[in-house]
Amino acid sequence: MINLSRFANRRIAVMGLARSGLASVSALLQAGAEVLAWDDNADRRAEAEKLGAAVTDLATADWSGIALAVWSPGIPHSFPVPHPAALAAKAAGVALVCDIELLALANPQARFVGITGTNGKSTTTALVGHILKQAGCMAEIGGNLGMAALTLTPLGADGIYVLELSSYQIELLREARFDVAALLNITPDHLDRHGGFDGYVAAKRHLFDQLPADGTAVIGLDDETTRGVARALGRGILSRGVVGISVSRPVVGGVYVDGSIGGGRLIDARNGSARTILDLAEAPALPGSHNWQNAAAAYTICTALDVPAEAIIAGIRSFPGLAHRQERVAVLDGVTFVNDSKATNAEATGKALACYERIYWIAGGRAKEGGIDALAPQFGRVRHAYLIGESADGFAATLDGKLAYSKCGTLQEALAAAAKDARGTGGVVLLSPAAASFDQFDNFEQRGDRFRDLVKALASDAAATLTGGAA
Ligand code: ADP
Repeated sequence: MINLSRFANRRIAVMGLARSGLASVSALLQAGAEVLAWDDNADRRAEAEKLGAAVTDLATADWSGIALAVWSPGIPHSFPVPHPAALAAKAAGVALVCDIELLALANPQARFVGITGTNGKSTTTALVGHILKQAGCMAEIGGNLGMAALTLTPLGADGIYVLELSSYQIELLREARFDVAALLNITPDHLDRHGGFDGYVAAKRHLFDQLPADGTAVIGLDDETTRGVARALGRGILSRGVVGISVSRPVVGGVYVDGSIGGGRLIDARNGSARTILDLAEAPALPGSHNWQNAAAAYTICTALDVPAEAIIAGIRSFPGLAHRQERVAVLDGVTFVNDSKATNAEATGKALACYERIYWIAGGRAKEGGIDALAPQFGRVRHAYLIGESADGFAATLDGKLAYSKCGTLQEALAAAAKDARGTGGVVLLSPAAASFDQFDNFEQRGDRFRDLVKALASDAAATLTGGAA
């Protein structure tokens, strides 16, 4: 656990008592801070009370003696409607920060890498962590991915924290400093929480406010918005300290992937020459041009951390991939079953659709703005769509006359129908919902786990049939 002794004897508010909030409560109490904790959910309050926090309604509390509010990034503090506790904190002039800020303040000797973007954050973070560990570096991976920041191991000058950062977390950073900050891409998402697209972009861009003059900014140049961010950094894309990366065009002085050769060739065009680093066909867990972007970012980040190129290449090659992101769950009778439950918006699903042919596509859930309209150019790759969840009618309206579909209601029905139709085609049954999971599941992990379990059940049914039906 992270040592927060700088907060000894200070009165700190912790708002939001899920996993990271409870970790903050524990770390602060252990450091000798007085902790006032609140969550609108009574069960969570009880957890904090058990740990020793003073459970206090922060909407009505006296904020005058409170030094800092550790705010759970999921709770609105500005848009669409600020939580009353945020208004109370702001009225008293108390700063709202997230647990990443505390991690950074507590480990000033360690190096910090922050990775953000609308899509690809987790993959890039896990890939950087994998490369660093394979290269023998002392690295801890966390933030929006995996372990709560304050449960990570304390690191000294030889340690590196690799943190996935959501826009909600970045908004809550004040003094945290990053040695390397990476922005992969920006497409509209979470707009309600940021008061619109400009607010969302501003939140992402704030990561670069945390970068000191000798830090390295890594910026994807494949969308107009991130190109704008790169320009706005004011130092010019090609200047020292800002490295542009692209998977759609060569970047003079940057890092890019040339998709016209091999399986996508990673090229480093810094230092006056264009050196081929790796054919990404050699990285089986990173299919598709979106993953090339992740690989290019990870490579660039690791070079900024002085990891030798050979070690980076070995790490990219051996990366095992992450669950729920185009995860190959099974191949049954020549049909591949892919779990891409993490694709909760059309942008992410479009990336997965682009990687396969003869797709039996399971989609739907709680629709995001724009639904699946943007995916129309990919419909030709899909043989049939199986619609689940709340968005079924809306998605069906988009598909009408363009693509055959069935409304299946549940994931179980959809998988049964898709597996039946795909039999003998050598195609791909792809769960890539282009929608949030919350209408039918707790989260995308639960949705993906269910898919995996259902596929496993199909596999054992098939085995049982082959062996004469013995149970
Ligand atoms: P995040 O953590 O930002 O949500 P993930 O790495 O978990 O991103 O990937 C989520 C989904 O987004 C994947 O299933 C994939 O379809 C898609 N994706 C991954 N990387 C990228 C990228 N660089 N650009 C666009 N889409 C991507």
